[in-house]
Amino acid sequence: MALSNSEYNLIMREYEERRYKAKHDLDRRVKEIYEKIPRIKEIQDEISTAAVESMKSRLYGMNRENGLEGQELHNKIEALVEEKETLMKEHGYSPRYLKPRYVCEICKDTGYVGNEKCRCLRSRITELLYLRSNLKEVLEKENFDTFNIDLYSESFVDKVMGVSAYDNIKEVLKRCRAFTYDFPERFENLFIYGDTGVGKTFLTNCIAKEIMDKSYSVIYVSAIRMFEILSDRQFGKGESDGKESREDFRDCDLLIIDDLGTELVNTFTSSSLFNCINERLLMRKPVIISTNLSINNVKSIYSERIFSRIASNYTMLKVFGEDLRIVTSLGLTKA
Ligand SMILES: [Zn+2]
Repeated sequence: MALSNSEYNLIMREYEERRYKAKHDLDRRVKEIYEKIPRIKEIQDEISTAAVESMKSRLYGMNRENGLEGQELHNKIEALVEEKETLMKEHGYSPRYLKPRYVCEICKDTGYVGNEKCRCLRSRITELLYLRSNLKEVLEKENFDTFNIDLYSESFVDKVMGVSAYDNIKEVLKRCRAFTYDFPERFENLFIYGDTGVGKTFLTNCIAKEIMDKSYSVIYVSAIRMFEILSDRQFGKGESDGKESREDFRDCDLLIIDDLGTELVNTFTSSSLFNCINERLLMRKPVIISTNLSINNVKSIYSERIFSRIASNYTMLKVFGEDLRIVTSLGLTKA
């Protein structure tokens, strides 16, 4: 996870405060009831005593064959609880009034159910990741629900592939959705390529949103920015203003490198790219690359070893069509 320790601790403090508040509010209600209906306090004390007795009887009772005692205590507690509830109702209170009220009843504001993160904690983490990713606004506009396949023409046919832009994008969308459904159980990398303005970034945004909604961390970075950050670190400029760091590129659940090939390619970028891709392959952490380059361009511009890593470990998705930015600027889009 790319949540830092301090971010995680921040969330845990929120949960602690929730529990504190729940306890504080309960104490206040208990006090109120005890003042109004003193008998309730007596009942509560009797229940506590009986519960302790019952536990003792369960611990030691089995061998002594005095299970009856346990049963009697059980009945006694039930009768006391019933008396308490009746009294509460008579005074116009719901029996729930004396129970703690949690924001999340499932995990009782602990954030965990057993060892698993509760849904509420996962969605709180997502919220934070969204905020930090700076993607919140763009993802509200660009997601699978707003993807408009009608922008892809049925008459625009790729000669090599022999399919129309429309049929192609339907298939590409299916693959992208499958990627998100199966994430992270199925390890897959995507190489999304095609001309400028055909919707590659939109597609990667759709994926980013789905993955973040599943509470996994996504780092979305343009190739230019990524190499900038890597070289700043490499050449000792420190962490600049960077929201992302080299560690994030390595550790995040999904890394999306946008617009590969627009950066200035040199031996540094080439070896950084190889290290990044290779490291994540070894850790089986997915990468999505979007680029104007074909896989053969990758070989000639970067290196044979980058080419072979990508060619043998990435799913190739070609996107094509008329330039969607032109179509979009004509106002033909839904969004
Ligand atoms: Zn919860």
